[in-house]
Order: sequence, then C-alpha cells, then structure tokens
Amino acid sequence: MVAILVQPMPTEPTPLIASDDHLAHDGLIEVVAGREVPCYESPQRATAIRDALLGTGDYALDAPRDHGPDPITAVHELELLDLIEHAWTDAMAAGRDPDRPLLPDTFLLHGYAGSMALTQLPARRHDRLGAYCFDTGTPIVAGTATAARAAVDIALTAADRVLAGAPLAYGLCRPPGHHAGRTLIGGYCYFNNAAIVAQSLVDRGAQRVAILDVDFHHGNGTQQLFWERGDVLYVSLHGDPAGIYPYYSGFATERGAGPGEGVTRNLPLAPGTDGDGYLAALAEGLDAVRAFDPDAPLVISLGFDTYHADPIGNLALQTDDYGRMGSAIAGLGTSVIALQEGGYAVEALGANAVAFLGALAGSSSS
Ligand SMILES: [Zn+2]
Repeated sequence: MVAILVQPMPTEPTPLIASDDHLAHDGLIEVVAGREVPCYESPQRATAIRDALLGTGDYALDAPRDHGPDPITAVHELELLDLIEHAWTDAMAAGRDPDRPLLPDTFLLHGYAGSMALTQLPARRHDRLGAYCFDTGTPIVAGTATAARAAVDIALTAADRVLAGAPLAYGLCRPPGHHAGRTLIGGYCYFNNAAIVAQSLVDRGAQRVAILDVDFHHGNGTQQLFWERGDVLYVSLHGDPAGIYPYYSGFATERGAGPGEGVTRNLPLAPGTDGDGYLAALAEGLDAVRAFDPDAPLVISLGFDTYHADPIGNLALQTDDYGRMGSAIAGLGTSVIALQEGGYAVEALGANAVAFLGALAGSSSS
C-alpha cells in the first residue's frame, strides 16, 4: 500500500494594498480640548500596520492602481476635490508659511447665513476651508492631496482584487475616510474611501452593498452619503456620541430616511465596553447585514481606536478581541474589502491588525 499524504491546500496570501504616498501627509498639529497637540493621525500608524502584516508572511504587498477622479466625484462634489487638490498651491501663491499646515479658523455654519442669501466664496481655496470643514482635524499640507488620492486608489484596488476572486483584500488607507461627507472634510478624513468603494460596487451592478463600520467613532460622512439610499446599508458600532466625537450623529434613533429608512443602523457603546460587550453589539450588527442580504462583498471601515489604550478612545478591547471580531465577521461567509480608518495606539496597531485580518482570513497566524 502506498500512503497518500494529504497536504493542506496552500492558502493564497491576502492582498495588502498600500503606498508610500501617505508619508508626505503629516498635519503636524491638531487642537484637542483646547490644546494644540501633535496629530494622532500620523504616518507611523500605517508603517506599523504594514510592517506587522508583512512580518506574518500571509500578505502580498501590492501597489494601488490609478482610478482617476471619477469614482471620487461619484460620491463627493467636484468642488471638494478641487479644494483638496488646490488649497495648498493657492496658499503658497498667497505667501503662506510652507512649514505650517492649513487649518480653518472661520466656519461657514447654517447659523452664519441665517436668512441671508450668501452666494460668494473667497477666490483662493485655502480661504474657503471653513466652508467645507466641520472641525480642525483636517490640516492640509503639501502632500495631503497626493496622499488622499492614493488612499482612494488603495481602496478601489482592494475592491478590484476581491471582485477578481480574492476572498479578502485589505486597503491600508491613510488618510482615513469615514468622516468625509459630500462637500465636507473633518476628523482626519478628506475623501470617503469606504463610501467610494461602496458606490463603485453599485456602479458595477450591485443591488445591495453593506458597509460595516467598526471604527471607534461614528462615520458621520458615510451615514450622510447613504442616508436616503436603500441600496447601501450602513451599520456602525461606535462610542456613544453623547460625549464622544463627532457628537452630532451616531445615535441609535438615526435610521435613515425616505428609501433609506431603516437602512442605517447605529449601535452606540457605553464607555468601558469590553470585548464581550462589543461582540454582543457586533452580533446585532451582523444580523442586520444578514437581513439586508448584500449581493456584493462586505465593505469594512476598520478602526483600531476601540483598543483599551487608544489615546482618543474610551472602550476596552484587547488584541485578542480583534481576532474574535474577525472570526465573527468571517461567519457571514462573504468576501470582504477591509479598509483602514482610525486607531492611534501606534505600538499596538500591528498586533491588532494581524489579529483581526488573520481571523477574518481564517489564517493560523491569528
Ligand atoms: Zn476613529
């Protein structure tokens, strides 16, 4: 008799789409609780995640493919793209200090106009920033537009890889995207990478696309973009906005409107929520995804600012909990486009990404 040794099927490495274009986007400072602090959203975040994933041997690094501006303007107004691409050069032409980031200091709120018909914006784009920002978290420097465009291409290339047959692709997007709305930047976000991918799936024929947002913060931009859409489900788990950024959205009562009624699902979490509490809420979120019955890969807005030691979060997840989350999401049995959002405990980002994505891929390295 000849013994037949059954070899385990070699698993394909998971595509890791990344680019060094983000390195030139370093906003230097942000304003938190009345203090000017170094930007939590730093280039080191992406480097730490990339190095940790590649260190497992389970990922194949690939560069993003240029998708042009059309997928961006399918989600954002052209004026926002124009602002991000030209604010820096306008500021330099006006003699601004090239060593300091552009930050808005005057905001065009509804309350500014009142009943006045204000129709004019300043000619120079950097003077208009406050008409498109809802906070001071989106500094613009010389490399911001290039980095933001690359993040979109990373997300779309990850989507391409999944549509071509990969069960999972990970887009190491930096800057992140889920706070960016149709004509709005904020919260470190310029273009909404996940929303752009979801829209591109619709444009490629999907009838029902689900976005699962597990970043610590509510993705107000994603919710806004699909608020009245019945074809894109937005499910978000996040710190309770009663006391947590972005403060004005993410309450459980927000459920969409019109054709999108019931197609937004918010699951706010109490401060200190641990892995068990989080997994219980995630199960609820996954039930909503199952009930929606998507016919496209799941899009995940992936943040690790739910980690117990995150400097701007208030939940209590441990590294092992990210493995549990990945396994729970893998239980959907669907292909996944995972796109990086937040996470600011730089020293733990690599291990948390390895745990989450490894479990999602069913890899033994998780
Ligand atoms: Zn976040």
